[in-house]
Amino acid sequence: MRHYVKIKTVQELLERIEEPGARILCGGTDLVVKMRSGAIDPQVLLDISDTENLRGIEEKDDRVTIGAATTVTEIIADPVIAGKLPLLETVLRTLGSTQIRNRATLGGNLVNASPAADSAIPLLLYQAEVNISGVRGDRVIGIEDFLVSPGKTALTSDEFVRSVSIPLSQIAFKPFFHKVGRRKAMIIAIASLGALVSMKDAKIDEIRLAVGSVAPRPIRLRELESELTGKAVTQSLIEEAKGAATNAVSPIDDVRASADYRREVIGELVARVLRNAVQG
Ligand SMILES: Cc1cc2nc3c(=O)[nH]c(=O)nc-3n(C[C@H](O)[C@H](O)[C@H](O)COP(=O)(O)OP(=O)(O)OC[C@H]3O[C@@H](n4cnc5c(N)ncnc54)[C@H](O)[C@@H]3O)c2cc1C
Repeated sequence: MRHYVKIKTVQELLERIEEPGARILCGGTDLVVKMRSGAIDPQVLLDISDTENLRGIEEKDDRVTIGAATTVTEIIADPVIAGKLPLLETVLRTLGSTQIRNRATLGGNLVNASPAADSAIPLLLYQAEVNISGVRGDRVIGIEDFLVSPGKTALTSDEFVRSVSIPLSQIAFKPFFHKVGRRKAMIIAIASLGALVSMKDAKIDEIRLAVGSVAPRPIRLRELESELTGKAVTQSLIEEAKGAATNAVSPIDDVRASADYRREVIGELVARVLRNAVQG
């Protein structure tokens, strides 16, 4: 028989996390789907949706810390997020439906580790850190190292995500996000691209590019970012960048789209970022 436990404190979670067959449950929007399909069969569900200190948003020392069990709806509604991390708000508005956003959490989205995980795009661009707690202590890891491959993160079996922390000194960038799917609402991305760009003297001063659904995990296009830095946006630069972006990703064919189509979309979105950067 399956056991369900409402976890009250972090201490209680640490005491139970290594029980045989135990699995953390938060909003359940990924986990319950997998249980229903028979992909997983956890024997003990540790519900952390109301665990003390895992939910909420705090601004302190020029950083915002978002508890892992904070829902997508709560993040979108937060004035600090909307005012200081606009790309996070924009992207999370496209995650699922209202009902899904009311249950889905930031921690769940990251630990589920889908190549299409929407929250990963702004978190990669804003250089977020993941605060991890475990039986052997706490550690902090950059988001790029946290996401490993489909369904896999850097967490070990005795660890959980406590919160995500984002530096706030990044508001001078022009944000861009586009998610391509089969329809306009409630889509898992076929391909997505987010960007932060700052221009100086008509040249690219800094550019950050992150893509989803076109590699085993959401990634930054770091080589392309370096190639573009310091350059003026010309038609030939746009064409070069399109080609480079197409080669920088490693998508697969699946039920939603072909690898070739995904490559083409990423090239086109990079071109849009560059055109957008020089428009007022
Ligand atoms: C109809 C539908 C539409 C969707 N649309 C989108 C979409 O557009 N974009 C998108 O990115 N996702 C989408 N999703 C996926 C899902 O809603 C998100 O990934 C969501 O954020 C998961 O959060 P959760 O709290 O529900 O996670 P859960 O299902 O509770 O957990 C997911 C996984 O994370 C683990 N876990 C949860 N919290 C922690 C923690 N703090 N520490 C360690 N492990 C933890 C669980 O053990 C489980 O393995 C959709 C899902 C559905 C059903």
